[in-house]
Amino acid sequence: MTQFGGLAERLQKVRTQIVQAGGSAVEILAVTKGHPVEVLEAAAAVGLTAVGENYAQELVAKFEGRSFDLAVHFIGQLQTNKVRQIADLVDVYETVDRPSLIVELAKRAPGAHVLVQVNTSAEPTKGGCAPDEAELLVTRASSAGLVVDGLMTVGPTVGGPEAARPGFRMVRSLCERFGLSVCSMGMSDDFLVAVQEGSTRVRLGSVLFGMRPAPTPRVR
Ligand SMILES: *Cc1c(COP(=O)(O)O)cnc(C)c1O
Repeated sequence: MTQFGGLAERLQKVRTQIVQAGGSAVEILAVTKGHPVEVLEAAAAVGLTAVGENYAQELVAKFEGRSFDLAVHFIGQLQTNKVRQIADLVDVYETVDRPSLIVELAKRAPGAHVLVQVNTSAEPTKGGCAPDEAELLVTRASSAGLVVDGLMTVGPTVGGPEAARPGFRMVRSLCERFGLSVCSMGMSDDFLVAVQEGSTRVRLGSVLFGMRPAPTPRVR
């Protein structure tokens, strides 16, 4: 576990920064993608309670047949044909962005907790629905029996943390408009801006665990 030495200190520092940015009840989702399975033990050992994974294959390899005291959030782009493989392992799907995925989740993971992902940067390679589609997806997911906890967004790839601010602000206001409590936004580079704009859940990888050892596998 030595490769995650210093994790407790880094976590403490992040918690302090969140409070200084005005966050009071901000959840930390520890993003463990790209790291070997030991990362899960390390996360649990410092009191983290939820982890995020991006790739179905990697998630299955890490979690199948094991049990950790950790909620598992799926945060990658999700193909409908992968839902079945991960349905028994995932607690929250954060990247619901289209009707076909809602249909598949309702079938394979009835009653699952989900977030609707909103693409606020209009980058075509990113998942997420257009902001003006979010309300319809929230309604559809609820009608399909899924539990919509809130909305999720990913800041723009370029422009630095400040470039993410308008999108974060928009998603927070959509959460309020729809009466949703979870606003999942902010990653290692932009979580302080996200907290300032009302994030209730930051998704942190590298700031906690350091650089991911291998390029994250492209296989989904
Ligand atoms: C990888 C990833 C993160 C964490 O990224 P870091 O920059 O390492 O904090 C958060 N959210 C999503 C959707 C990701 O894909």
